[in-house]
Amino acid sequence: MTVAEMQNEIMRLKAERDVCILAHCYQAQDILEVADYVGDSYGLSVQAAKAKQQTVVMCGVRFMAETVKILSPEKTVYLANAMAGCPMAEQMDKDYIAEVKKQYPDHAVVCYINTTAALKTICDVCVTSSSAVKIIRKLENPNILFIPDCNLGDYVQKQVPEKHLTLLKGGCPTHAGVSEQDTLSMKTLHPNALLLVHPECRPEVVAQADFVGSTSAIMEYAKRSDAKEFLIGTEMSIAEHLRYECPEKRFYPLAKRLLCVNMKCTTLPDVLAAVSGEGGERIELPEDVLTGARRCIDKMIELG
Ligand code: SF4
Repeated sequence: MTVAEMQNEIMRLKAERDVCILAHCYQAQDILEVADYVGDSYGLSVQAAKAKQQTVVMCGVRFMAETVKILSPEKTVYLANAMAGCPMAEQMDKDYIAEVKKQYPDHAVVCYINTTAALKTICDVCVTSSSAVKIIRKLENPNILFIPDCNLGDYVQKQVPEKHLTLLKGGCPTHAGVSEQDTLSMKTLHPNALLLVHPECRPEVVAQADFVGSTSAIMEYAKRSDAKEFLIGTEMSIAEHLRYECPEKRFYPLAKRLLCVNMKCTTLPDVLAAVSGEGGERIELPEDVLTGARRCIDKMIELG
């Protein structure tokens, strides 16, 4: 089968079997082209909840499929490739954070959405990279235990100096892998390019950026900007996708380390197998986890 033949078969099967395909924007272009929705993790779970289909295939990583299940517990949710985890989401588990919480009894616990469903059950509220500043500013408690990403936490702390954020050593190994030297070298190589950076990058990289934002915000900024060249400081597929969307502009990944192997686990044949009902992993969560994690996400919706 060629790529085009496989894409046609997926399109035929998803209509026949009434399946909704979600693709995180770090997925490969051939997967984006067969998806019903493409976007950030939380946006995809909202789209899935609104979709008329009762079966959903998530092309992304495990915590994203869990978030879809939390928002749509009545739907059948598959993770297209069961190996696709997120190292950041798996860094801190519920038992560990329950112990840490005892050291900070006067802190509100705020988790990034890139956490497991089980961990969300013991957090007060979760945030996305685009809502973190707004939500933390609104919290009554001046003391925040922010988990797991210390780079995002550092960025939020600088935007909200009136709060005190306690950070742990965690984060995204893909974004944190970019060094200040990588950034300086690329800026020298492309002196006219604007630097657009995700706040999961290290503070010394973020400090050099022309724009800091979530993946969706970076894409929107690049599309609307009058500039012609951009250094893209997030997973390298975004530079590629932007070249499809804006062929008249130039996009360069900030570093070749910006490759998330977990996001690249999922292939077009995996999507075909999942849509056929012969592959993927069906996501099931215990009732107490569904309820506890939903409370944490509902608080985000209320404040964000
Ligand atoms: S890019 Fe980082 S946060 Fe996103 S899935 Fe990969 S490891 Fe997790």
